[in-house]
Amino acid sequence: MSIKIISLSKFYGEKEVLSDFSLEIKGGQVFGILGPNGSGKTTLLKVMAGISQFERGSVFVEGIDARVDQIGVRKIVGYVPETPYLYESLTPYEYFSFIGSIRGIQKDIAERRADDLTRAFGMEEYNDQFIGSLSFGTKQKVSIIAALIHAPKILILDESINGLDPQSAKIFRDLLRSLVNDGMTVVFSTHILEIAENVCEEIAIMKAGKIVAQGKTSELLKEKSLEDLFIGLTSTEDITSIVSALRGTLR
Ligand code: ADP
Repeated sequence: MSIKIISLSKFYGEKEVLSDFSLEIKGGQVFGILGPNGSGKTTLLKVMAGISQFERGSVFVEGIDARVDQIGVRKIVGYVPETPYLYESLTPYEYFSFIGSIRGIQKDIAERRADDLTRAFGMEEYNDQFIGSLSFGTKQKVSIIAALIHAPKILILDESINGLDPQSAKIFRDLLRSLVNDGMTVVFSTHILEIAENVCEEIAIMKAGKIVAQGKTSELLKEKSLEDLFIGLTSTEDITSIVSALRGTLR
């Protein structure tokens, strides 16, 4: 297993956000985490990335115990947050070189990786502009490239594809595929069911800090579309009655 979580409990103050939570993620695949807002996706991904502590249970990332060695976990994980936190007054190139140096990557290797990834994302034209002046989607790309500079074993992305235009989303999907073919494990959360359906070998659906469905995408989708499955498992409202009430209101 690339990631193994056993009986995890995570609190924010008095509130238990993940409760007796267990999950195993096999290596060398794309694993998707779906769930409505507030279901605990970001919290879970931060624990897996070694940037958030937890109260109970165990988390192993490539065999490293996250409770004992969070820094060890961070070394082998690339994490892309939902909102990119970037140095706005650096250019992407300066930022990649900065990230390479704090990650302890040899300068020429970091530069080569940055060049290759920048080209793959069609970002060369932005290399000399300040990050602060870039669009949200371009900042997302900067954030994704920065997470790959140290060639992590696991890439964790939190809603990170939502800001990408269709062409970049396609490049990104292809890139994920080739990273996985090279042995990387990718875990990502998204609201975009179509991306999850097309990219993930396995999917887990979360609701209120628990997993309500998990399995191979092909098997989960044998009987229902992902949309029907997702809404059926996570919605607290009856969508049909909401739509007919709206129709009534709009008539
Ligand atoms: P998701 O990513 O699925 O939207 P989150 O992991 O962000 O869910 O949030 C899960 C729950 O934890 C929500 O109820 C949210 O309000 C709460 N939460 C998240 N971060 C914090 C925090 N730093 N302090 C207190 N509560 C938080």
